[in-house]
Amino acid sequence: MSAPLRKGWCPGALRPMRTGDGLLVRVRLTGGALPAGTARALAQAARDFGNGLFDLSARANLQMRGVSDDTLPPLLDRLSALGVLDADEAAEQVRNVLASPLAGLDPMALIDVTALTRRLEGRLTADPALHALPPKFGFLVDGGGALRLDGVEADIGLRAADADVFRLTAGHATLGFVAPENAIEAALDVARAFLRHRRPDERRMRDLVKRLQDEACETPLPGRERGGGEGGVLEELSPASRFIRPGLAPQPSPEPGEGRAPLLAGCKLFGDGHASGFFAAAAPFGRLDADQLAGLATLAEKQGTALRLSPWRAIILAPVPAGEAASLGTAIASLGLVVDDTDPRLAIAACPGSPSCLSGQASAQADAARLAPVFAPFIRAGASVHVSGCAKGCARRAPASIVLVGQGGRYGLAFDADSRAPSETAPMDIGEIAALLKRRVAANGAKKNSAERDSP
Ligand code: SF4
Repeated sequence: MSAPLRKGWCPGALRPMRTGDGLLVRVRLTGGALPAGTARALAQAARDFGNGLFDLSARANLQMRGVSDDTLPPLLDRLSALGVLDADEAAEQVRNVLASPLAGLDPMALIDVTALTRRLEGRLTADPALHALPPKFGFLVDGGGALRLDGVEADIGLRAADADVFRLTAGHATLGFVAPENAIEAALDVARAFLRHRRPDERRMRDLVKRLQDEACETPLPGRERGGGEGGVLEELSPASRFIRPGLAPQPSPEPGEGRAPLLAGCKLFGDGHASGFFAAAAPFGRLDADQLAGLATLAEKQGTALRLSPWRAIILAPVPAGEAASLGTAIASLGLVVDDTDPRLAIAACPGSPSCLSGQASAQADAARLAPVFAPFIRAGASVHVSGCAKGCARRAPASIVLVGQGGRYGLAFDADSRAPSETAPMDIGEIAALLKRRVAANGAKKNSAERDSP
């Protein structure tokens, strides 16, 4: 089998992406559920066919790195035997559903979305018309509870608002509320409406929603908001309105949380005073190795917990009795994973950079790890940090308080900016950046905002 060679493609397993360290093979696990036996087998597959490294994606997928053209076919055979390979590329691409990491495990969840997630995936893969959805177009199913997905962006969302109702969202817009038994049909109606209304350059729901809202502002039509969707959006996505519950007024949708640093590590209870909860084993910058994954599998088996992938660069173990949290934390920390949610690495967004990425101008993750102690006082003061291997800024789209962008092995530095903004300094090595930031802390403290900063 020859490996498809697509740079910049949204990768899968059947359609891997070529990177600086070989092919990147993304494994999509339904609901992020990762049985311990599967985790151990994937760890062995990464040793046998890749370079032994994984990335945790922001869509709760596991990405195996360093696969070669020669090792891809036997790897796919292994994935197929494990039951984690789709039938074809189209099914793999459209099966893009992010679900509550604690589905079926969290007694505080409003709705158990386990079965709904599986059914939604089945409907997406079975309907060829929906295979026209763009590669990164994604669904989200949130049952509420201890680990809500409020801050996670999705093209189409079903977010539990109560025990018997989902809020249906399109991009950032709330379209209305639907009953669980109608949720899949309503979501698929919106997906079909997206395909009908989108322009060729509109690849994400947010692009279409923005245009529809702009048009609604410019050309208000009588009764345009009768369906209750934000800014007239529901009018265009009208087929879904047959499922919208009357009498429930849409509320403003929360902004997506991309600007927020994901901070998830350690043990959290399912609710105040609850006797059990879950443990988040965080991988700095989303990177972990085969031994760490296999180690988590062993711990999960020993503790009798499930393993779940999450969109916050952490693997979740649940349920965990509160009395066992300390010993589990010690065991997870011994694997080299983060169990302390004040660890500054959790608040730094860093892409792989070079040599893992062909476009990398600097080793972003390695340098972010080295600079973490320097960033720590700024992070404690509320700053966000982005270290990017190039201006594309894959790890974070939103602006950050401190931004380093790779340029020929060094970094340009900017404040309160995104990675595409012009840097405010000449390129510096990380020693020079560390010295500059330390001087600033010594002189003024770690101030968060650019308005308060000294000129470099
Ligand atoms: S931002 Fe990082 S991962 Fe994205 S293209 Fe640039 S170097 Fe590669």
